[in-house]
Amino acid sequence: MNKSTLALAAAGVFVTFLEGSMPDLEKFQAMTDRFAPVEISADLSPLPEGERRALGRLVEAARVMDSLFLRQVWAGNETLLLDLLRDPTPLGKARLDHFLLNKGPWSRLDHNAGFIAGVPPKPAGGGFYPVGSTREEVEAWLRSLPPGEESEARGFFTVIRRAPGGGPFTAVPYSLEYQGELALCAGLLREAAALTAEPTLRAFLEKRAQAFLDNDYYASDLAWMEIEGAIEPTIGPYEVYEDEWFNAKAAFEAFIAVRDEEETRKLGRLGAELQGIEDHLPVDPRYRNPKLGAMAPIRVVNLVFASGDGNRGVQTAAFNLPNDERVIREKGAKRVMLRNVQRAKFDKVLAPIAAVVLAPEDAKRVRFEAFFTHTVLHELMHGLGPHRAVVDGEEISVRQALSDAYSAIEEAKADVSGLFALGHLADKGVLGRGLEESVYDTFLASAFRSIRFGINEAHGRGIAVQLNFLLDYGAFETAGDGTFRVNREKIRDGVRALTREILTIEAEGDAARARDLLGRLGVLRPEVGRMLDRLKSIPVDVAPEFVTARRLEEEYGREGRKE
Ligand code: ZN
Repeated sequence: MNKSTLALAAAGVFVTFLEGSMPDLEKFQAMTDRFAPVEISADLSPLPEGERRALGRLVEAARVMDSLFLRQVWAGNETLLLDLLRDPTPLGKARLDHFLLNKGPWSRLDHNAGFIAGVPPKPAGGGFYPVGSTREEVEAWLRSLPPGEESEARGFFTVIRRAPGGGPFTAVPYSLEYQGELALCAGLLREAAALTAEPTLRAFLEKRAQAFLDNDYYASDLAWMEIEGAIEPTIGPYEVYEDEWFNAKAAFEAFIAVRDEEETRKLGRLGAELQGIEDHLPVDPRYRNPKLGAMAPIRVVNLVFASGDGNRGVQTAAFNLPNDERVIREKGAKRVMLRNVQRAKFDKVLAPIAAVVLAPEDAKRVRFEAFFTHTVLHELMHGLGPHRAVVDGEEISVRQALSDAYSAIEEAKADVSGLFALGHLADKGVLGRGLEESVYDTFLASAFRSIRFGINEAHGRGIAVQLNFLLDYGAFETAGDGTFRVNREKIRDGVRALTREILTIEAEGDAARARDLLGRLGVLRPEVGRMLDRLKSIPVDVAPEFVTARRLEEEYGREGRKE
């Protein structure tokens, strides 16, 4: 889980276009301008022919997720899409573009306001529940079921439909509801399995194909955790955000990606330094962990193609899967970071933000490498620091101890201790000093990118805490013209001081001190708000064009398959 829910959190910081009447061409253009077009490509030259063909099949299979997801968002989507495709006028074309961007006729960045006349409000239960039913009716029916049937009906992989006779509703497995498309997908996955030489990939593809047919995803989720080699596909029903009634039903999506070899090597190098970072954390030595356990796996990949729930509105830059608790207990979850998507967001959103937010000499230091290395360190640092605390004589998890304050504190910890770690690794010569010089300015600019989405969710709140703490410390400063800059004398000490404060709160499980920190500093201050106003014309996100996927389809797609 833990995928970006930023679109939902957009808290009125962006210009909202959709109030009252339906948009005309000009309004559609303004809406479009919020998403900077970008080509998403990946280097496939190291891949042998067989692997490239397998990848081509996976892109084809991923396309099927788009049509399945449309049906999951709203039962009327497919008919509406056909209507839109028949309209050749410029306005018709604009509607179609926005429909495809949002996977439905509601703008996800504008609190799901409709942009096509005559469509109903976005159904909160998506297409997962019967048209005309209410949440209360379905809930009452679910409660009336015997335990085994109830858990099946509440599960990830069933839709609820009206019963043909007898009782009010019935649970229909995805394998039946989406039979045609899933059979097509299963066939493509099996073809890809036959083409690849990588056994762990083949195992996943064969098991996932089977899951599409028998509706049991467990074995294939386990196999997904074990994929090695160049191709990293994620395809199937995963996230539950689209089901706002119960957050129960999984939406179809795909991320077809290839491993980033250089970053993977770098990740290996950083992984070897983790105990050394832990041993030097700026916190009372008794709170350091003398022997770190195994880390959750992280993969750095470049995206070739994304579809369905994985490609709507604001683009996903990283995700943690699977969501099935049984798999997580057995194998943990895997973090997948989409490097080329992050690069696109950096170029189209963060760099323009930096140019406005930062003093000119600071803006010059902002670099993608610093941004991405810090993002990787953020993920690694979640695994470091205290995870257990003794509260009232009882040892419990830090998550339990800090309760509602935990997520924002833990996100702030990962960020700020990631800055500390980068400095530590620069001191050791593992990372370059130039990278450290860049990271503070880059982080300062990226703080504004995050806060734009609001401070109501954990990440934005945690960013506000850091920004305000470092401003109060004098490590970040404002200039007379409203821009921000890094104080190079104070930044390292400021980072250490905040890292110490947060790690101590976690080690002691001190919920009151955590809430106090969030209450004082997890706020939007006027000077920050004024700067956010100046960012309104900068795109919110990117609209990807998957050029490598298109090339693969031209070369190996159904029309021109070279066999
Ligand atoms: Zn995090």
